Amino acid sequence: MPLTHDAILQTLSKILPPGQERDLVSLGMIRDIQLEDDRVTIGIELPTPEESIRARLQADIEGAIRSEAGTDIPVETVFTTKAPPSTPAGDAPPNPLPGVKHVIAVGAGKGGVGKSTVSTFLATGLARLGARVGLLDGDIYGPSMSTMLGLDEIQATANGNVLDPFEVHGIKSMTIAKLVDPEKAMIWRGPMAHKAFSQLVLQTDWGELDYLIVDLPPGTGDVPLSLAQLLPLTGSVVVCTPQRVAIDDARRAVRMFQQLNVNVLGVVENMSWFVGDDGKEYDIFGRGGAEQMAAGMSIPFLGAIPIHMNMRVNADAGTPLANFEINDEITGKLEQACRNLAEQVSISAMQDPGRPTLTISGSPPPSS
Ligand code: ADP
Repeated sequence: MPLTHDAILQTLSKILPPGQERDLVSLGMIRDIQLEDDRVTIGIELPTPEESIRARLQADIEGAIRSEAGTDIPVETVFTTKAPPSTPAGDAPPNPLPGVKHVIAVGAGKGGVGKSTVSTFLATGLARLGARVGLLDGDIYGPSMSTMLGLDEIQATANGNVLDPFEVHGIKSMTIAKLVDPEKAMIWRGPMAHKAFSQLVLQTDWGELDYLIVDLPPGTGDVPLSLAQLLPLTGSVVVCTPQRVAIDDARRAVRMFQQLNVNVLGVVENMSWFVGDDGKEYDIFGRGGAEQMAAGMSIPFLGAIPIHMNMRVNADAGTPLANFEINDEITGKLEQACRNLAEQVSISAMQDPGRPTLTISGSPPPSS
């Protein structure tokens, strides 16, 4: 049967973009269908420029149209990106950081699972992939970014009230550790914690960023609530180790984000396995626990990272880019987790192109 314009439209109405429950046609993404000289060109408008989403759609569309046509007809897809609305939806207040496209919180149910390590590799990894990235050390109780990013010898500077971010390892960064006496215990009562955190976020000159990664304090305390109130978040990442006791806490962190109406973009399993001198893999903490938890809670799994001594060494030395040079397997795992996060961000942007500011529902979760 010869291919017709209607048949192409019918075919496209069966294709769902990644992560979507509706098809391309009902989402209003088809801009143009041209059928000339046995060649099809489809114009598609997406709310995201994400390459991996375009590549998947291109493959799905080509396959479906060729199967409808019964021949290997050339199928070209021309993608354009829909600009997000300049004003937030509904009654939402204006975004205080309009130059930042996506704010992503990184949380964990408990301390020591590698939340700061993961925040750092996500930030530097996304920058390695070509994005403009900021990393905020929002762990105001136990900031570790000065060490992990090697900022100890760098002087903080400001322009009036606005702090200059530290531009290191291809990213912009800020941490409270550079603004207070590092020897002092950081005791912040609720309102002070909110103030300190909001100054760090809002009074740093982030400029134009694709992603601002915010490393939160562990647990379900005040800072995630402050962040959710201050900024329109694209979503959050939950970091955990695979053993049962850590998973239970991670599940609470997921629930906290959900209670704050923050989309959980995915889970990263850290310290998933260890390769011994004998070359064997040891699943010290029971590899796969976080992936199972993510599946059970219908949350994307972004990837698993092994324990490697050099990751600890690089954190202590403030050389995060060296994590991408430990060995090919680790480089691949880190890069894949960054790509998976970028893809989830794009999927979330497609579901919510206006990124409305959060509404906080219910009472804040209890402090940990
Ligand atoms: P959190 O932010 O959850 O408290 P950190 O990222 O500070 O955890 O990590 C705690 C310690 O574990 C740090 O010394 C860090 O270098 C180390 N670490 C974290 N992840 C790994 C890993 N995959 N391999 C080796 N060491 C790691």
